[in-house]
Amino acid sequence: MLPDENTLPKSYYQAKKILRPMGMEYQKIHACPNDCILYRHEFEEMPKCPRCGVSRYKVKDDENTKKGPPAKVLWYISIIPRFKHLFANGDDAKNLT
Ligand SMILES: [Zn+2]
Repeated sequence: MLPDENTLPKSYYQAKKILRPMGMEYQKIHACPNDCILYRHEFEEMPKCPRCGVSRYKVKDDENTKKGPPAKVLWYISIIPRFKHLFANGDDAKNLT
């Protein structure tokens, strides 16, 4: 899927291991499986999408017992910590400015 010499981490754990030392803090935000909304701000507590009505969670046999895992998750990597990290190196800071 990727051009030669580009690889993806093999697992979630591997990805986390790479991101952690780089100071890449990230936030996981639940999303509608049809990409209508993100479950944050006024939608944060909603169990299903207000636009298309699809459940926020992967539906289990007995819906009343457990919510189950979210149907879709967005990984948000904030730009501020990324810039802080880039500006920590003097040479890079000069180039960035
Ligand atoms: Zn939706």
